[in-house]
Amino acid sequence: MTTVRYQCRACGNLTRFDVVISRRTKVFYHYSVGGELTIEDEEILFEEVEEVSCRWCGNGGMVDQVEEGGLASSAPPVPEPSPERA
Ligand SMILES: [Zn+2]
Repeated sequence: MTTVRYQCRACGNLTRFDVVISRRTKVFYHYSVGGELTIEDEEILFEEVEEVSCRWCGNGGMVDQVEEGGLASSAPPVPEPSPERA
């Protein structure tokens, strides 16, 4: 299973998107004797991403779907936090 990622071509955003999804799910409603509901075993029957827009610049038409690992490397990698020195 590949992870879907998005990238805004307008501003380079990789991390903040407004996503509209239609999703039909089947779930197991598990009630306790006291009537408290726990929802278990959610199964996605249908899922469709309808709209993805950039949270930064609000551009809905410039967002590309990219495969994990196939990201354009224009954004510099996040530096790893270095241990604090005394
Ligand atoms: Zn953007």
